[in-house]
Amino acid sequence: MNKLLNKQWTSADSADLYGIRDWGAGYFDVSDKGLLTVTPERAGNKVALPLLDIVQEIRERGMDMPVLVRFEDLLEQQIGRLNNAFRKAIADTGYQAPYRGVFPIKVNQQCHVVEEICNVGAQFGHGLEAGSKPELIIALAHLESPDAHIVCNGYKDQEFIDLGLHACKMGYSCFFVVETPTELPIIIERSRALNIKPLIGVRVKLASMVGGHWTATSGDRSIFGLSITQLVEVVDTLKAEGMLDCLQLLHYHLGSQIPNIRDIRTGVTEACQVYMNLVREGAAMGFLDLGGGLAVDYDGSNTNYIHSRNYTLEEYCADIIDVIMSTLNPEQIAHPTIITESGRALVAYSSVLLFNVLDVASFQVGQLPESIPREEHRLIHSLKEALETMSGKNMQECFNDALFYRDEVRELFKRGQIGLRSRSLGENLFLAVMQKVLTLTETSPKQFQEADKLREQLSDIYYCNFSLFQSLPDVWAIDQVFPIAPIHRLDECPTREAIIADITCDCDGKVDRFTNMHDTKTTIPLHTLKDGEEYYIGVFLVGAYQETLGDLHNLFGDTNVVSVRLNDDGSHEFADELEGDSIADVLSYVEYQPQQLRERFRKIAERSTREGRITASERQEIMKAFSESMLGYTYYEKV
Ligand SMILES: *Cc1c(COP(=O)(O)O)cnc(C)c1O
Repeated sequence: MNKLLNKQWTSADSADLYGIRDWGAGYFDVSDKGLLTVTPERAGNKVALPLLDIVQEIRERGMDMPVLVRFEDLLEQQIGRLNNAFRKAIADTGYQAPYRGVFPIKVNQQCHVVEEICNVGAQFGHGLEAGSKPELIIALAHLESPDAHIVCNGYKDQEFIDLGLHACKMGYSCFFVVETPTELPIIIERSRALNIKPLIGVRVKLASMVGGHWTATSGDRSIFGLSITQLVEVVDTLKAEGMLDCLQLLHYHLGSQIPNIRDIRTGVTEACQVYMNLVREGAAMGFLDLGGGLAVDYDGSNTNYIHSRNYTLEEYCADIIDVIMSTLNPEQIAHPTIITESGRALVAYSSVLLFNVLDVASFQVGQLPESIPREEHRLIHSLKEALETMSGKNMQECFNDALFYRDEVRELFKRGQIGLRSRSLGENLFLAVMQKVLTLTETSPKQFQEADKLREQLSDIYYCNFSLFQSLPDVWAIDQVFPIAPIHRLDECPTREAIIADITCDCDGKVDRFTNMHDTKTTIPLHTLKDGEEYYIGVFLVGAYQETLGDLHNLFGDTNVVSVRLNDDGSHEFADELEGDSIADVLSYVEYQPQQLRERFRKIAERSTREGRITASERQEIMKAFSESMLGYTYYEKV
């Protein structure tokens, strides 16, 4: 860090440090004034909006942090990028069928998001994937484009199937993807009963396995899909029923966030063989559905690391088409309509979580006495000596000694042989030893083995106004890494290394893995807080999976949400504002009745008044505060 301090720090340095231009996909950048900007585009207008401006506008509207900001234009742009990339690849290669994406609703079920996808997707025939009855109901109420498909995955009961069959009759192209052999008899029976011809797809388990988080989604033991043996049985059943013309779609899903293009190619290659064989068996076919998996480059490294991807969107499209053509052309099999179920890649960019920092705990060395009093315990003297004699040459030995002395001090304290003040002095001296090691490693050619660990131990804890469990559940559940950066002061050099803690009182409520070009880091560089000035941090690319997976840990509820949208003239507006849960809301989710809570509390307050602990007018004040609290935000509010 010292090296960097010598020269004037600029916004460009921050852009590098936080990798903003690497993971930002052209949507996020830093202005000369040190502000993190988002660049939505509408009607040919590209506007770099500082996120700090958005925060101020949110504040002016009386809303508190944390806030989830959705940029509608970014979602639209992503839909355009995906569809146009396929269109271009199709045009370039002379592929003989169209691309028809379907958005898997589970990735972000929020009404606003689905509406937006359907509106903007209409021009591309972009449809929806439904994995449950509620999702099918959403799809039926939103899809109007006749070119857009509905793909029904997941376990389907009779009600689900009836709904889909009625939809087919109304003119929707609604596919039932057979995931297990037990579904097929219900589909056949219901389509006979209602006299509606179904559109049937089959989901196969490919032998191809992929690397990354979701390895278990692929291969023989994946829980969904038909084995090849079961697939043959399905074909035989349909043949016997005279319904092979209904079998039109082949689906597979290797898992989400596939980082390696080779796995994508391997999957399509195997699927094309299955497809070709189904055509030979006499199935109508016409649709090849590759599922999800198109990855997001969360760390900007453009590698096959699990939080990245080693391919561009253009390469993804080109490779898929290349494999299909080179497999089907020699056999003279007609090109199928390509369906992908990209969710993550479509919606991740459009949401940013913003919060303020409430407090910082730093592990800095406290005031040390000039000299240690003679009567002080010998271990304390030894610690002081280790600190003073340490140099670049002997730091490892001195550190080992100091560690031993510190542990001895703790041991003696436990046995009551050392007092509180001596223990405090010992801890402080050891902190000083750790600090000195770090300072020495910066200039010394000699390596200190555990420098990274030390740095981590001495890093600050920034307490931030959000709940990890509510807003970033994947960080907790699957070690997901999201890009994180302060949204202002980027023209100042950040001088602290920190981890981020949320305000739940759960020790898991912290972020201590950060994106980095080469690896994940355990700390993030941040600025020191300034008196009387808020410090805001953004967590980026959080549009996929986070919103509904979040839970009410410690009863922190939904955050405020605003949707920002550019106008044609380049100005922007809040197209939508959703107030987060109030305390009364979250209490009612866990079966408390706010009215009853108030009544119980009133009785207790009444008794206190009767017993003379509080006056009647104090009771009045207390009841008012209680009632007002119930209506408030569950997060830290500024008075
Ligand atoms: C979750 C899921 C998807 C979405 O995958 P992404 O990687 O987010 O694009 C697609 N299809 C199926 C069947 C899924 O279960």
